[in-house]
Amino acid sequence: MPKSNFQNIALNSALQQNIESLGYSAMTPIQEAALPSILEGQDLIGQAKTGSGKTAAFGLGILQKLDVKNFNVQSLVLCPTRELAEQVAEDIRALARTLPNIKVLVICGGIPKKLQTNSLASGIHIVIGTPGRVEEHLEQQTLKLDDLSMLVLDEADRMLDMGFQPSIDAIMQYTPSKRQTLIFSATFPKEIESISKRVMRNPKHVQIESDHIDSDIAQKFYKVNDDTHRLTATRLLLLESRPDSTVIFCNTKKDVKEVAGELKRFGFSVIALHGDLDQIDRDQALVQFANKSTSILVATDVAGRGLDIEALDLVINYHTASDPETHVHRIGRTGRAGNQGIACSLFSEKEHFKINRLGEHLGFKIEAEKLPDLSLLKQPGYKAPMATLQISGGKKNKIRPGDIVGALTQSKEITGDDLGKIKVAANWSYIAVTRKFVDNAFRQLTDGKIKGRKYRVKRIS
Ligand code: ADP
Ligand code: MG
Repeated sequence: MPKSNFQNIALNSALQQNIESLGYSAMTPIQEAALPSILEGQDLIGQAKTGSGKTAAFGLGILQKLDVKNFNVQSLVLCPTRELAEQVAEDIRALARTLPNIKVLVICGGIPKKLQTNSLASGIHIVIGTPGRVEEHLEQQTLKLDDLSMLVLDEADRMLDMGFQPSIDAIMQYTPSKRQTLIFSATFPKEIESISKRVMRNPKHVQIESDHIDSDIAQKFYKVNDDTHRLTATRLLLLESRPDSTVIFCNTKKDVKEVAGELKRFGFSVIALHGDLDQIDRDQALVQFANKSTSILVATDVAGRGLDIEALDLVINYHTASDPETHVHRIGRTGRAGNQGIACSLFSEKEHFKINRLGEHLGFKIEAEKLPDLSLLKQPGYKAPMATLQISGGKKNKIRPGDIVGALTQSKEITGDDLGKIKVAANWSYIAVTRKFVDNAFRQLTDGKIKGRKYRVKRIS
């Protein structure tokens, strides 16, 4: 493939410059296939796996099209979850760095509506949100889409899975018919085709090897006898390579809870991620996983959506995915950014039908490998390398990561090497500290001050 280059496309120079500064030297395949048409104003369905750069594909399209002087909402991006919406907003803000004063607002449940209403009234160019809350604002006329020129459905397959179809349909009624519509999705079920027929005009369909699996993902399959054996197999696989970041996918919420509970009992650092968690717990779970305070997430497919973890070492499919596309999607979380990833799938006799179908889809015969030696079970589960402290102040208190590092390293008992990721959210901050120093860090933060103020500190892992 010839080396593609952003310079070959009709992006304005401010965006071009910024792309360089973001270190994007070449377009990803989906960007190469989609961006020229998006910039020409065409409706488009973009299908490519997670991590393929879809956000920048539509993000650049949105930014190029924007009339900065018009403070009415011109672009709306719908996403399935709040995290994804926040991620997309962050990415678009980064892409917009060299443009003057672009206002991006996230509109999702879990954030007071009044705040969103005030922000909307102050003038917003781009709204990124989940369908439910966006629909509410439209009904209450606190959001107006009369000037909307670009509508994006991101992760459309998951929005449908999550039952957002009625909301999406309702939102459509509020948008001008003269608009550009983009749909991005990792898979292309027939429901999306039918939505696209209703809401798009001659869409171009670009698909980037959705079945393709990176050669840097090693796929392994293991046969188990029953559910007890399934759990043992999982422990063996974890104990064999002791990875820092593993996601275990289960098909049901009930399994997620059970598997997480069992693994915890065996001494692993594990968190269950499922639809019953409230947003705060979910946010905290993801923070702890990303900063290596918990080494295992057990998740349903829907809850696992939107995990954007740079280096996931291992994916375990506790049960065979309900369909091959879901399998491909699950394992695509590992081996990103050139890292070698491992995907281990467990199956029993009962899942033979699914396994055969998966083998056909993947294009190879699935052969079961031998599980690691049972003697490994003598070892207890292992702990994650870091632990997380939660601080009762965040961006609203003008706290920055450097302030927290400063407060912790002042006494010189703790050095920067003992600190991990810091996340400063609106009202809270989270800092990861090596387990060895977490008690010390807790004391320093509790006894000391950050920027001259005392905060409450809580250890959450
Ligand atoms: P998707 O939405 O397809 O799952 P994202 O848009 O979130 O994937 O992109 C995945 C990662 O790739 C992000 O960290 C993004 O910054 C990075 N990325 C996107 N486009 C490029 C590019 N052209 N070159 C290098 N990195 C890129
Ligand atoms: Mg995406």
